[in-house]
Amino acid sequence: MTTIELDQAYIAHTYKRFPVEIVSGKGSLVRDAAGKEYIDMGSGIAVTSFGVADEVWISAVEKQIRQVQHMSNLYYTAPCARLAEALCTRTGFSRVFFGNSGAEANECAIKVARKWAAEAKGPDCNIIVTLENSFHGRTLTTLAATGQAHYHELYQPLTPGFVHIAAGDMAALKALCAGGKVAAVLIECVQGEGGVIPLDPAFASALAAYLKEQDILLMVDEVQTGNGRTGKLYAYMNYGLHPDVVTTAKGLAGGLPLGACLLGEKVKDVLSYGDHGSTFGGNPVACAAALSVLDRLTDSFLSEVESKSALLRGLLEGAPGVQSVSGLGLMLGLKADKPTGEVVQACMANGVLCLTAKDKVRLLPALNIPEELLRKAAGIIIAACK
Ligand SMILES: *Cc1c(COP(=O)(O)O)cnc(C)c1O
Repeated sequence: MTTIELDQAYIAHTYKRFPVEIVSGKGSLVRDAAGKEYIDMGSGIAVTSFGVADEVWISAVEKQIRQVQHMSNLYYTAPCARLAEALCTRTGFSRVFFGNSGAEANECAIKVARKWAAEAKGPDCNIIVTLENSFHGRTLTTLAATGQAHYHELYQPLTPGFVHIAAGDMAALKALCAGGKVAAVLIECVQGEGGVIPLDPAFASALAAYLKEQDILLMVDEVQTGNGRTGKLYAYMNYGLHPDVVTTAKGLAGGLPLGACLLGEKVKDVLSYGDHGSTFGGNPVACAAALSVLDRLTDSFLSEVESKSALLRGLLEGAPGVQSVSGLGLMLGLKADKPTGEVVQACMANGVLCLTAKDKVRLLPALNIPEELLRKAAGIIIAACK
């Protein structure tokens, strides 16, 4: 049987895959089993921050894998300690909890918010507010946090204690908080799965000021937007926010599973022995990979991400068949006249891999994609939109 036949026979049918088997790649170019080459404008959903089979990343991983690949959290290992230091130094956060995915990073944030509020304000203060159209993960609790009803329908009962409000609706938020039962608000600075929709800066500022005044936690889900994706190390930095908790995953380790929950001053000591854990969390190989990713996200590199963003936006905006381009940095959503699926199919036929998010073509190229490939991909995308 072929790979595609085996996959269809033996893997749960949760993914609607494209009929393409990727076998290898280098940087932003990947190759399928038939030898066809593609420009990768999705980077494994914002995961391969420096592309595929990047040499710096490979040597960081290889060096660690030859030393020790896993020891569990019963012992100290240098890569996770050094990564936590690097994350805290670069952001001003105080402590980190490591898991393996975005959903787990959010689970940690939710546990921290619940315990903090129970201790600081009493056991009835347990509501976590999130935004409509948000996406926070696939576990039952992060599904409950996700503000999209169609994900909820078949999995009742979900974890209680989540309320969704429309982005921008300060009145609804204030009405909810007036009851004294809101522990935290969890937001994405740019809704990714929801259609690459940036948060309105005026709402973000008003929200942050109000939560500070009310002593309610501001938690930012940077699973997709983090680690240089939006042209800043974390997207909240574009908004001048000072969150109490930030979660991240996807691009953090450049292609290995790693999630992190960053804890600010107010909540840094909420978790104590036995409160939370993860067998694989803080795995030394994943952490060594993440350290090498973080080392390369310098200010000058991040300003290149911003200039590549401006270049790509400039090429796409106003092209025939392109209605609009949204997003920040190298996290862009293109609304075309044609159905999104048709555009993505045409791009693939012509050698460009794109993602979708709701009614948008979603573009999340590697942060180091060469300008020449970015121009070439833009040309193919524009032709597909005509
Ligand atoms: C992808 C994503 C998640 C879930 O991450 P997993 O690693 O798939 O668990 C959560 N929040 C946001 C904003 C995401 O984009």
